[in-house]
Amino acid sequence: MNRRALLLFVDGLGLGADDPAINPVVAAHTPCLDALLGRKLAGLTARFEHDGALVVPTDATLGVSGLPQSATGQTALLTGLNAPQLVGRHITAFPTKALRELLTEHNIFSRVKALGGDVALANAYTEEYFARVKAGEMRHAAITFSALAAGVSLRGVEDLVAGRAVFHDLTNERPRSWGYDVPEITPRQAGANLAALAGGYHLTLFEFFLTDLSAHHRIDQPPVAVVAMLDALLAGVLETTDLSRMLVMLTSDHGNIEDGRVDTHTRNPIPTLLIGRGRRDVGEKIASLTDITPALVDWLAEDMGH
Ligand SMILES: [Zn+2]
Repeated sequence: MNRRALLLFVDGLGLGADDPAINPVVAAHTPCLDALLGRKLAGLTARFEHDGALVVPTDATLGVSGLPQSATGQTALLTGLNAPQLVGRHITAFPTKALRELLTEHNIFSRVKALGGDVALANAYTEEYFARVKAGEMRHAAITFSALAAGVSLRGVEDLVAGRAVFHDLTNERPRSWGYDVPEITPRQAGANLAALAGGYHLTLFEFFLTDLSAHHRIDQPPVAVVAMLDALLAGVLETTDLSRMLVMLTSDHGNIEDGRVDTHTRNPIPTLLIGRGRRDVGEKIASLTDITPALVDWLAEDMGH
């Protein structure tokens, strides 16, 4: 069994106009994406291939009116089911009971495990996170919920110290500011750590959501800085990954950061970026958010003799 997949989930990243005055993805310093695509990750309405990279504009509206939202979009991404249509609307933030049932039954971690595959969620969590969930102060978002439902053990601060996990801020600045003795690293090093971890699993998922927070003006970092961090993360991943075995896939749940004129989500398509082994086989099956999990699971299943 040789195939490996690393799914980089980037919250709130759409395909917007190829105009730096409008689109922070275009205005940001993105040397990795620029070299990979020979252009900016913007202004694309059809599939685009350049050297070893494929971009598939992917529908996130799923035939439901209104702005696509995180809970339903992530559920669609993780299950392959049209979650907003099933529950009648786009639902923001944290999954409701109906969405949690879909995630429990159909999530990508469980499906790859059922094939006999090893799966990992690369994000690290602190004790305070679990304490806040237990106290009812916050709820698990769709990816964390799915990992727990699938029996995937979540990574902690000790994994961050050992480089076996990545914090959602990439650099460990936040856990350091909370008093944790973890090394400060560059986003590029975070990418290298992520790729090294992913080499040991059939499927590894990492959730990055500063894009969405930044576009909603909920953090100090401006969108161009967050996009530049994401680019450096990708650079670290690609320079450490064995692309003859690994499919690196970057995707999102809805647009947001690609339109600096609004601080809401958008109905733009999202970019599904595929690099490395299997990119064409998987990419050709993708048109909407609901296609990603089935295409990825089928591709891994083929290699596992199913
Ligand atoms: Zn979202």
